[in-house]
Amino acid sequence: MPTDRFSRVSGAREAAGGRPQHSLWTALAAILIAAGIAVSVLGSRLVAGNDRQRARATFDAAAADVASTLTQALEHEEDLAIGARAFVIGNPYASQAAFLDWTRAVEALPRYPELQGAGLVVEVPAAQLPAFEARERADPTSPLPGGSFQVLPPGPRPFYCLLALSLTRTVTPADKVPAGFDYCALPTSLRSAFLTARDSGQNAYLPYKSGAADVLVVETPVYRGGVVPRTVAARRRAFLGDFGTTVIPRIVLRTALRGHPHMALEFRHGTSSSVAFRAGAAAPGARSATRDVHYGWTMRASEAVYTGGMLSDSKALLLLGGGIVLSAMLGLLLFVLGTGRSRARAMVRRKTQELSHQALHDALTDLPNRALALDRAERMLARARREQSIVPAALFVDVDRFKRVNDTYGHAAGDQLLRTVAQRLRGAVRDQDTVGRLGGDEFVVLLESATREIPPDAIAERVIEAMREPVVLDDGATAFTCSVSIGIAIGMRASADELLRDADLALYAAKAEGKDRAVLFEASMQSSSAEHLQLEAELAEAVENQQLFLVYQPIFDLNTRKMVSVEALVRWQHPERGVVAPDDFIPLAEETGHIGAIGRWVLDEACRQAAEWKAKGHLIGMAVNVSAHQLDEDGLVHDVRRALGESGIAPSSLTLEITETALMHDVLSASERLQAVKALGVRIAIDDFGTGFSSLAYLRQFSADALKIDRSFIAAINDSRDSAAIVHTLVALGKALHIETLAEGIEGLDQLELLQHEQCDQGQGFLFARPLTPEALERFLESESRDSAASAVTP
Ligand code: C2E
Ligand code: CA
Ligand code: CA
Repeated sequence: MPTDRFSRVSGAREAAGGRPQHSLWTALAAILIAAGIAVSVLGSRLVAGNDRQRARATFDAAAADVASTLTQALEHEEDLAIGARAFVIGNPYASQAAFLDWTRAVEALPRYPELQGAGLVVEVPAAQLPAFEARERADPTSPLPGGSFQVLPPGPRPFYCLLALSLTRTVTPADKVPAGFDYCALPTSLRSAFLTARDSGQNAYLPYKSGAADVLVVETPVYRGGVVPRTVAARRRAFLGDFGTTVIPRIVLRTALRGHPHMALEFRHGTSSSVAFRAGAAAPGARSATRDVHYGWTMRASEAVYTGGMLSDSKALLLLGGGIVLSAMLGLLLFVLGTGRSRARAMVRRKTQELSHQALHDALTDLPNRALALDRAERMLARARREQSIVPAALFVDVDRFKRVNDTYGHAAGDQLLRTVAQRLRGAVRDQDTVGRLGGDEFVVLLESATREIPPDAIAERVIEAMREPVVLDDGATAFTCSVSIGIAIGMRASADELLRDADLALYAAKAEGKDRAVLFEASMQSSSAEHLQLEAELAEAVENQQLFLVYQPIFDLNTRKMVSVEALVRWQHPERGVVAPDDFIPLAEETGHIGAIGRWVLDEACRQAAEWKAKGHLIGMAVNVSAHQLDEDGLVHDVRRALGESGIAPSSLTLEITETALMHDVLSASERLQAVKALGVRIAIDDFGTGFSSLAYLRQFSADALKIDRSFIAAINDSRDSAAIVHTLVALGKALHIETLAEGIEGLDQLELLQHEQCDQGQGFLFARPLTPEALERFLESESRDSAASAVTP
């Protein structure tokens, strides 16, 4: 036992006299201090090395972040070009007024702050010049100043490149292109950008200096029919014009640099010798990283990154200093321990207190942590048990959309928001109430309501009110508003866990009712969550117990009115509840992961059924719904391959329907998996299209074969101009991108007529047929073939 030996040694020394005992402790303390200093030096060198590495990693992450913002910006930009292309294809001779109407409808100027102007330059052969001139004169809103028209520079040429439509942000006359200005007449870079775009079928980029700003002109060629013809000659024939935009890239770069105040950016297209756009100033000796952005653009981010050694790293220095001081203190402590125990004991007690505070409080907000908050709740319940007048209450507070703040403004901002919430919560209650942080963005407030005048729900309202104040970040410039949802549980419970669980259930209800509100716990919430659990347990066995079955809804070609395929829709034959609709169990299956097994079963069964029909001579396509979760897993390709192999149906007869929102989950891996599925020969349809609208540019990335226009638009097509316009645009978009369009939920003849007028390709809905059992579908097929045989006979 070391302590025994210790006391024996000191006892022996004591007997020999006071001095030698002191020198023993002095020597021990000196050894300890020396060892401590050695360890601190080593430690701080390590820290300095670590910090260098961390600084590099932080910079790399920031560069990746900026690159992804720029990618999004380019895609956003591409959306405008896609929209404009669809507009021009749909209206090749649009008037300037119609064009301006369109730009207002898509909010081009407000949504694209970097956009200085946009327009369509068309190629006018000499023979058509008078017609062009006449059209321009007849249009009172034409961009021609003063109505005078003259080809510039004057003189006869085989063709002219003239501005047919234009939009400008500023309206100074100097900004106006003179009427009849021929972009192709002079051997300028404008001419070459125009012709390059026309002949290559790709965007041409033309950077130049305009006054103080660096400006970029982007020329997007537009061809009749929407697709880029294969050969140069065919492209020239189908050419409708170049849609050009003039943008100030620095505005985009500045937005991308938000949150990275010390970073400088360089942005260029193509080769390293091409013109670059810059924003921000790079410090000398900065580290830089080059990243591919998109569409041939690259960016180079530079930032001064910490590279110093141990003595210039404040943390390492702190550790070194702290280590020296600490070893000196420990040496002193050892010395004092050896010589005077009571002083040392006091010091140890203080240190222990500090440590226990740290163990029971949250480091970020200094609020009681979960363990302490639960302990306080237990004590509150114990007090309430002793004194009938005390009514315990707990508020479960959760920040709404906290993740979005983290994603948008960064983790430091997230931390600051949490500290602000903590402060505002503390400000809303009395000192003797407990405010604790349970973890993440969850807080708890414990109230003993009988001992106060204000009831818990009024306090919850006060908290919600306090959160309405904007949160201003440390940089002083960024401010945003956010809200909290609160679940309230009032009254005696057997344990703190139960009290918090009830408050949590109420919080769940508050979130479900639309957030930014407080909801009081009710007993029914418990039973609905119990019901939820019950259903979840039963769902786990639904596949094994063969309780799932498929019904099939026919899909029609709107032109020939022939049935071309069916969509498989799953049902659950529940032993007590009867038939459960997918909307009532698919979300639950997704939440619990059972969707994996369900999805595989649906795929196998639908393919098996298609093979059975094929054997009976019915060649119809089969569409199967795939949920976001299935797309998140690598197994999808394998499952599809197996279902195809086992059934023997042609891959091209199978369509996977994937909702737009599922695709937007994780765009990159979704598009990779879809490519792999498509490589099997299977078709892809984007389901509920128009509801999760994010970026049209993704349509091509996902190489979808069909768009299913969401049934909410079809339902409103005859009553709402917005819906009609959206359907019109989506069908035009499908045509431009050569993607089939399908309208869901057709219930009335008037809807069908409108869709036929819009030339939507396919449709499904109760007007034609409800989802049918396999037997009913076979009867339907037979009656259809009888009808068509009859109509073939009757003239
Ligand atoms: P969805 O993919 O949009 O499927 C079409 C839904 O619209 C079906 O509802 C169908 O019965 C309904 N419908 C068809 N025509 C009309 C009409 O004219 N008017 C109206 N008001 N409704 C019409 P259902 O079968 O209840 O399916 C609901 C959703 O459940 C589906 O929406 C789909 O997202 C999901 N779902 C169905 N089966 C599966 C499946 O096997 N796997 C996955 N992951 N999801 C499925
Ligand atoms: Ca579907
Ligand atoms: Ca749908």
